[in-house]
Amino acid sequence: MWQVVGHEWAVTLLQNSFTRGSISHAYLFTGSPRIGKTTLALNVAQALNCTGEDIPCGECLSCRKVSQGIHPDVRMVDSAYQERLLEGREGSTALGIDVIRSIKSDVVLKPFEGRWKVFIIPQAENMTPGAANCLLKTLEEPPPHVVLLLTALHTDLLFPTIVSRCQVFNLRPPSIDLIREALERRWGLEGERAHLIAALAAGRMGWAVEAVQNEALLKERNGRLDELLSLPAARRLERLSFAQRWGSQPQRAKEILTLWLGWWRDLLLAKEGCLDKMENIDRRNALVEEARAHELGEIKEFISSIRKVLQQLESNVNLRLALEVLMLDLPSKR
Ligand SMILES: [Zn+2]
Repeated sequence: MWQVVGHEWAVTLLQNSFTRGSISHAYLFTGSPRIGKTTLALNVAQALNCTGEDIPCGECLSCRKVSQGIHPDVRMVDSAYQERLLEGREGSTALGIDVIRSIKSDVVLKPFEGRWKVFIIPQAENMTPGAANCLLKTLEEPPPHVVLLLTALHTDLLFPTIVSRCQVFNLRPPSIDLIREALERRWGLEGERAHLIAALAAGRMGWAVEAVQNEALLKERNGRLDELLSLPAARRLERLSFAQRWGSQPQRAKEILTLWLGWWRDLLLAKEGCLDKMENIDRRNALVEEARAHELGEIKEFISSIRKVLQQLESNVNLRLALEVLMLDLPSKR
């Protein structure tokens, strides 16, 4: 059974071509973070080596080994792989040429027990140019028993020569309803909680699963949200100290800004009476009340201010300064 939630068109396409025995040597799954790209890649790895009838059966020894991460013919080229390869030397987020070279010398070896030797390279956009060139050589002349599965945020972030050698699947985020249904059916969540997590996940199935398994995630979100909500009424000094606190932590700042963007989008929806489309459904009343305290134009403007900082975050901007400007743009409550 395919474990991935949503992406039915991709699953159908893959399943049909595998059943026909038509298999490409390289697949690329693109789409926003945590929507299921790596899960789909793992399912493909299972399907390719599955010994059951309905591929991927999820139950045969091969399928189980893949899901446990111990299949000798399936390599997950993630940070753990990099650490093993570098033998304790500190790895970096960049996928360096050492890693791709090790794949290159590995692909020529025949599979031990499966039909296919599968290499999963998540976040392929992190490849250095040297690594990408090295991978290209393998993609140009792949050994017959090898399948490469790449994931990336977007095809634009990869060399076009790499993209053109892959069968590309551009994945869209699964809908709230699909996520909710999966949380109820597979994870046994009851209605209201499933709905809240699905809405907050905003298409990120990976985040939803983590929120189910780790209560702290929702608690943290609640704390952060409370803090953000106190800011419109806060004085200038408090606002600036917020900017100072997160100004040196881009990853945290990005999470907080994303949370905030969701909140202000909800305010816009509340203002326009579209309550059923909201993300933060557990705070509906607060949102409706808060929306009354702001003009529509004010809300729209602040949403674009948040977006601007999120974009700037991608280009090594002075984060603290950007957050300070944002804090001063933040509309006060009327
Ligand atoms: Zn199987």
